[in-house]
Amino acid sequence: MIKIFTSRITYDGIIVEGEEPSEIFELDNERGLIAASPLKYKLKITPINGGYLATGSAEAIFELICDKCLAHFKERVKNSDICHLYENYHASELDLTEDIREDILILLPHRFMCSESCKGICFKCGTNLNIKQCSCHDTEKPDSVWNELNNLKI
Ligand SMILES: [Zn+2]
Ligand SMILES: [Zn+2]
Repeated sequence: MIKIFTSRITYDGIIVEGEEPSEIFELDNERGLIAASPLKYKLKITPINGGYLATGSAEAIFELICDKCLAHFKERVKNSDICHLYENYHASELDLTEDIREDILILLPHRFMCSESCKGICFKCGTNLNIKQCSCHDTEKPDSVWNELNNLKI
């Protein structure tokens, strides 16, 4: 949990830096998404108008499964524009956990792609076309079929 005792926050603000275990993301393995590193953060907390301003950056690495070819790949997600204002905040602890978690998760792509040029898998024989070309000679494009499948899920 990213919690700061507000009594520690000085007039000029303080820098808080640290790591939280990957479990903080509470991912239920949806779409094969796994947090593959701790969440690292560096924030500045400044008192402002009876509350606090938190700015800074946070990052984590995720393991994803490509929507097109089903390969596992890793993606580093970093948010350098964190900015939260906690107005009229009088509790003894400032809990940033939920907001920082969301700041990272919001940057995950809607479509998981191992690379821009991923060729996907042949829908007929299952060959990963990034690794080798299969000998199927389809008139239908595998690409369009996968796109339709993806649209159905939504
Ligand atoms: Zn792929
Ligand atoms: Zn094939």
